[in-house]
Amino acid sequence: MKTTDSLGKKSVVILGSTGSIGTQALEIIENKSSEFSVCGLSGNKNWKLLASQVNQFKPDFVVLSDESNRESFENSLTHKPKNIEYGTEHLTSLATFDKADLILNSLVGFSGFKSTYEALKNDKKVALANKESLVVGGEILSSLPGFTRNLIPVDSEHSAMLQCLLGEDYSSINKIIITASGGPFREYSKQQMSSITVNDALKHPNWEMGNKITIDSSTMMNKGLEIIEAQWLFNVDIEKIEPIIHPQSIIHSIIEFTDGSSKAQMGPPDMKVPILYSLTYPERSHYPNSVLDYSKSMSLTFEPVDFTKFPCIRLAINSAKKGGIAPCVMNAANEIAVERFLKKEISYIQIPEIIEKSLEKFEQSESISPPVLFETDRETRIYAESLFS
Ligand code: MG
Repeated sequence: MKTTDSLGKKSVVILGSTGSIGTQALEIIENKSSEFSVCGLSGNKNWKLLASQVNQFKPDFVVLSDESNRESFENSLTHKPKNIEYGTEHLTSLATFDKADLILNSLVGFSGFKSTYEALKNDKKVALANKESLVVGGEILSSLPGFTRNLIPVDSEHSAMLQCLLGEDYSSINKIIITASGGPFREYSKQQMSSITVNDALKHPNWEMGNKITIDSSTMMNKGLEIIEAQWLFNVDIEKIEPIIHPQSIIHSIIEFTDGSSKAQMGPPDMKVPILYSLTYPERSHYPNSVLDYSKSMSLTFEPVDFTKFPCIRLAINSAKKGGIAPCVMNAANEIAVERFLKKEISYIQIPEIIEKSLEKFEQSESISPPVLFETDRETRIYAESLFS
């Protein structure tokens, strides 16, 4: 399989290039234009930003998922790509584009699964920022040949785990300690949790991220999703993955080995570090990212997770233990609950209630396949929309 284009550059497709991960990846690529080129981009609503990215990076293949702005989009292009498509159904063609050496999947939510699935099936290397692909479809994706070889995590915690596990035998993992900042409500009382507003929840203390993941971080659902993600990525029993609150977000995760030794990966909370690593993996490449100053006094603290205050993390773990379609139901209900909270249709504490009720509603399916997941996802969304309305 080729790994670089004719000029020796790695040719990258970015799915979801107008989002937080996509724009940071393009910033890295812009500064490392001798190492990377962009052969494909996709965006959804933000056609203006997508158009300016297309004009700057000159990809061959572009998908605008939301076609309602087709005309304005086309009129603002100074670079005409060989192939422009409209509609989400074209994302899978972009995910399997033959010119691409690496697909960065930074789509949001379960809608990103199909692209991950098709890319891996076509033996493409995938830098995965779309954690829902693994949360919902981990059982299917991990059975594809090349899964371990081709899938590179972008999530900071999983990038940390991957780096700690280099040269190690996965069977020597005793425990994975996944760190969590605890989000903005770590010190809230249960009483205070009931009056949280959208603005409160969108303020993350350490990380700059998109809206969906910022809300997920505040409910700690994000950590639940990441535990499931780690389970599939490293083929580890979910019981061996322990979430720990680490408010400084400097240690991004720890691997404890069977001989009593542990390895941790550290760095400032800056997504550009794990994004860069996913682009250059297994190599490292120089980049002027900020670093920690160890000469200044700094404390690293740890505390246990309060599962009663943050029920979402427990709901996620339990759905993974149940397996089958349960993680799909959990994820779809969460996506709808977060969307509805952002639209101020439900209160903050109704987010876990919607997930719990959805998990109770849907029966386990006998076998799981992509069509079963799509159908479960669709039905759960309808049910989760109908609650508290
Ligand atoms: Mg993370």
